Formats: sequence, structure tokens, C-alpha cells
Amino acid sequence: MAEQNGVLVVGEVGGDGAPRPVSFEVLAAGRRVADALGQPLTVLLMGSGVADPARELGAAGADRVLVADDDRLTALTVEAASAVLIEAIEAVRPAVVLVPGTTAGRDYAPRVAARLQVGVAADCVDLTVEDGTLVAVRPVIGGRVQVAVRLPGSRPQIATVRPGSFDRATADGTSPEPEALAVDLGPDDLRVVVRETRPAETGPANLEAAQTIVSGGRGLKEPDNFKLVEELAGVLDAAVGATRAVVDAGWRPHHEQIGQTGRTVSPRLYIAVGISGAVQHNVGMQGSDYIVAINRDPDAPIFKIAAFGIVGDLFEVVPAVTAELRDALGK
Ligand SMILES: Cc1cc2nc3c(=O)[nH]c(=O)nc-3n(C[C@H](O)[C@H](O)[C@H](O)COP(=O)(O)OP(=O)(O)OC[C@H]3O[C@@H](n4cnc5c(N)ncnc54)[C@H](O)[C@@H]3O)c2cc1C
Repeated sequence: MAEQNGVLVVGEVGGDGAPRPVSFEVLAAGRRVADALGQPLTVLLMGSGVADPARELGAAGADRVLVADDDRLTALTVEAASAVLIEAIEAVRPAVVLVPGTTAGRDYAPRVAARLQVGVAADCVDLTVEDGTLVAVRPVIGGRVQVAVRLPGSRPQIATVRPGSFDRATADGTSPEPEALAVDLGPDDLRVVVRETRPAETGPANLEAAQTIVSGGRGLKEPDNFKLVEELAGVLDAAVGATRAVVDAGWRPHHEQIGQTGRTVSPRLYIAVGISGAVQHNVGMQGSDYIVAINRDPDAPIFKIAAFGIVGDLFEVVPAVTAELRDALGK
């Protein structure tokens, strides 16, 4: 690809028809990279009836908005998403392409990279530009180490962005008028047909959107004691999370699991109760603004990432904190 034209970021819409929060994070990442390159930022939205959410994304700092709006993209399959993204890349000729590191994005980004015979940096938590080249930072070995990846021979340079890694761009500007991207899908792009979609059993709380999360670990000793976590969460209008140890033990449902093999969250406040702070847990919550840890072991690794730590027996500390907060908040 000869001429290079800025950064192309891909947004996603949720089941409610609004842009997913991660779209604003990828947009913020794209803005930063585009500014460092001194080149424009284009946002692409694919789906059916997505002009309005595309404008919302455009108002959050994009220079150009592309919309692939087609009924055949209602249930966006990985084949169709790959085909449309390749068309957008051919139309924009970007130097850098950023894709949300969601289930879908993690699926189609490498396919697109393979078809274009370029590299992909997956699951990035930071992005900078050095000497006009993207430098993508990604955790490896379960988050113990971070590596900086360059894709020097790749044009475009493709990266997926881990949700929760960037502050969200805010939609307080004026959107450029969305431009229609011609959607040309062949039989191979449409061979998977989605006949029905059902909501996942994600439980009452949307952990990714929660501003406050109270999570419990094996320190609670037995499932019934999770009521301590639920009571504290209730007073704070918080969602409840859990470690894999307690999910594997059958104490809590899998949709509450936070970490490498669970969900990635970035609330304003994350309270970890009886959680040791294993790297596999921490990678799912270390993007939280403010982490509070309650653990009786002063050497527990969770204290290394906590802004505020209480060393003590959770069976004493949690009821006391809950009672104080109940009084203070008048609940
Ligand atoms: C491939 C892989 C993927 C993984 N994915 C995930 C994942 O997605 N999410 C995840 O959470 N884990 C994951 N794990 C597991 C992870 O390595 C840890 O085993 C797990 O997070 C530990 O959970 P825990 O903190 O509840 O338990 P523990 O490590 O047993 O910690 C319990 C803590 O409670 C404290 N405690 C005990 N009693 C009290 C008390 N009375 N008062 C106060 N504190 C007390 C202890 O001091 C201890 O620190 C994964 C592991 C692997 C190998």
C-alpha cells in the first residue's frame, strides 16, 4: 500500500443500538496515534441502521466517519466484518488500524491481517508512535511482563485494543457527516447465517458498565459468606464480582468472574474482599480508577495495586465498613 492516510478505528454497536463504551476507548487511542502521526482519524461503523451511533462516535473526535450500513450486516459475522474492514482499508489506506479487543474484534482482526499479509499486535494496553511507526504495548505471560511491539513491515499496522485500557473519548464535538462505504459481499462472506440471537446469561449486573464493583474471593471461606459482599455492594449500589477460585468452586456464576479468563472491568471503585491478587485476576480489574483491598495477609499481592488497603479479618472489617457506609449514606 503506497500512500498512507492516517488511522482507521473500528467502532461497535451494542444490542441497544448505541455505540459500545469500548468504541470510545478505541477512538481515544486512535486520536492519540493520529495526532502523533499528524494524520487524520477515520472511524468505521458496520451494521444495519448505524448512521446515528456513527454520528455519536464522530462527535467524539473523528475527522471522518465511514458507515457500512446494510441489512446483511445486522448480525455481524466474522466473515462479513472481515470483508467490510478490508474494503474500508482499501478506501482509506490507513497507516494504522485499531480494532476493539472484544470477542468479535479478536476474531476478525487477525483474519484481516492474514488476508492483507500484515502483522497484528493483539490485546494492546498502550499505543505510542516512535519515528512514525506504531509502538503497541501488550501484556504477556499472564500480565507479568509487558512487551512493546512494532510492526515495521506491515502497512497498515493493525492492533486490537484491550477494553478498559484507555479513557473514553467524549462525544462533545460535531460529527463529520457520515460517508457510506459501498458494501460488496460475496457468497463466502455470507456463508454463516445467524438465525437467532439470545441474550447471554449475564445476570442482573452489567459488570463492564458498573461504576462500583465489590468482588469476593476464596477468603470468604464458603458460598453463604458471599452475603457480606452482597450487602456491601447493596449499600454502594455496586455490582458483584468474583475470582475464578470461587467460580470454579461453584460458589458464584461464571458471568461474575473477573480476570484473564473472565471479564475485564474498569470501574471507578473496585473493592477486593479476600482476594489474593493473582496476576490472572488483576489483568481483569487493574484498569479500575481506585482499588481498595481487604485481606488479612499484609504480603498479599493485591496490596501492590491497591490505592487503599485494609489488613484485617474480612469477617470483622466488611460488616463494620458496611455499617459505617449505611449510616453515612442514610441507607
Ligand atoms: C490460565 C489461568 C487463568 C486464570 N484466570 C483467572 C481469572 O480470570 N480470574 C481469576 O480470578 N483467577 C484466574 N486464575 C486463577 C488465579 O491464578 C488464582 O488462583 C485466583 O485468582 C485466586 O483466587 P482468590 O484470590 O479468590 O483465592 P486465593 O488466592 O486463595 O486468595 C484468598 C485470599 O483471601 C485471604 N484471606 C483468607 N481469609 C481471610 C480473612 N478471614 N480475611 C481477609 N482475607 C482473608 C488470603 O490471605 C488470600 O490472599 C487463572 C489461573 C490460570 C492458571
